[in-house]
Amino acid sequence: MNEAIRYDVVVVGAGPAGLAASLAAANRGAKVALIDEGQVPGGQIWRAHRGRPSSGAISRVRALSEAGVNLWSGCTVFDAPGSGTLGVAREGQGFALTYSRLVLACGAREVFLPFLGWRTPGVVGVGGLQALVKGGLSVENKTVIVCGSGPLLVAVASYLRRAGASVPMLVECVPAANLRSLAIPLLTRPTLLRQAMSLRWSLRGVRIALGAQVLGVEGSQEGKSLRWSDARGREFQTHFDWLACGFGLVPNLELASLLGCEMSGQAVGVDESLETSVRGVFAAGELLGIGGVECALIEGEIAGASAAGDSGPATQLLSRRKRARAWAESLGSAYAWRPSYLSPPSDEETLCVCEGVRLGAVRTCLGFREARVCHRLGMGPCQGKTCGPAATRLFGWEAEPPKAPIRPVQVGSWLGVLDPGSAPDRNEP
Ligand SMILES: Cc1cc2nc3c(=O)[nH]c(=O)nc-3n(C[C@H](O)[C@H](O)[C@H](O)COP(=O)(O)OP(=O)(O)OC[C@H]3O[C@@H](n4cnc5c(N)ncnc54)[C@H](O)[C@@H]3O)c2cc1C
Repeated sequence: MNEAIRYDVVVVGAGPAGLAASLAAANRGAKVALIDEGQVPGGQIWRAHRGRPSSGAISRVRALSEAGVNLWSGCTVFDAPGSGTLGVAREGQGFALTYSRLVLACGAREVFLPFLGWRTPGVVGVGGLQALVKGGLSVENKTVIVCGSGPLLVAVASYLRRAGASVPMLVECVPAANLRSLAIPLLTRPTLLRQAMSLRWSLRGVRIALGAQVLGVEGSQEGKSLRWSDARGREFQTHFDWLACGFGLVPNLELASLLGCEMSGQAVGVDESLETSVRGVFAAGELLGIGGVECALIEGEIAGASAAGDSGPATQLLSRRKRARAWAESLGSAYAWRPSYLSPPSDEETLCVCEGVRLGAVRTCLGFREARVCHRLGMGPCQGKTCGPAATRLFGWEAEPPKAPIRPVQVGSWLGVLDPGSAPDRNEP
């Protein structure tokens, strides 16, 4: 009979932070497992293209295999049932992985906010549309409007153009003055400046409206269109096949929260070695605050090395980390969300898609608890991952601590965690 599988270091999340952490730990002699719910490693920025790993991930995945890291792809961590144990689900089955040290690199997800017509077919998240195209959806010759706020809009608009879409408009709600505040920090970072200029060049011919407001989506027999107003308050209506909306990202804090890690604002609190308030549990990347790929790679290396008992990189990489975080903070404040960016949604708009809860039903609630108990807000399969951040932004409600399972799983998966005999062969992750 198999026993629960044990590793020196388990890393959750195979994005840039998790890949860097696994390699750093394995290179220091630790027996490492890297778990990700995706079938191909790479996380968000290095998401596989039609099942093939992206160029950013390929060399790192090869290095992981040479370093002897066990890659558990298609495996979802849904529970932390005891000290040093994770509950993992794969294809309807569950098993336990045990660790001496844990690195959390669970990344971030998009925020979706309700607005007039946001449930119209063809209205999607900006990262969601990018993921669909990487998964095989064709946008060739389709008209895509990108709207909302955040640096992801520009990156995805550029990607969609390369994928053959026609992107006539980018409706950015952040005013020009906010973006000008980025000029000085950019001038001190030549690589970023070059990247920004090349992104801008890739969008030549695209009309970029700054300081705009998203008013809503209208659908008729003639097609779908976005209503928006420019910085001077003039209203426009622009036709689209796909509307890619971005309203920022939130870190996936559920597992850290379940483990009892203390939070620092909207991020996991860590010390300089990136250890959390729970001994032996480290965190890296977007969990420490939305910071992008540079922060993720540096912090992954620090967290992985620290988890393997080497505090060297925490000191050696400290100034690079501070610099990368300073840039992330500049971006964060330039793109900070303001309610005025979006026309206020009516009571008729759906807030919780899983349970069909309308905004009007919960608007007068005192918080998540009342909205959940009385109206089933956040009680569906996504467990409030979509409507939760939206309700926080709309009503200022404080997020509730998550409960296991943090991902929807079958009962059999849960039972499997309790039964060590169900562990898969340790040689076949
Ligand atoms: C939808 C989306 C698209 C993005 N696109 C871009 C882009 O084009 N360009 C750009 O510069 N930045 C992009 N970003 C920002 C991106 O988050 C960072 O650039 C960078 O990828 C962060 O690295 P990370 O390793 O911290 O997290 P991620 O890359 O997000 O990796 C986290 C990984 O953890 C896994 N995971 C999370 N929870 C669990 C669990 N419970 N069990 C198992 N696995 C789990 C996820 O499957 C994911 O693979 C995007 C972000 C999002 C949310």
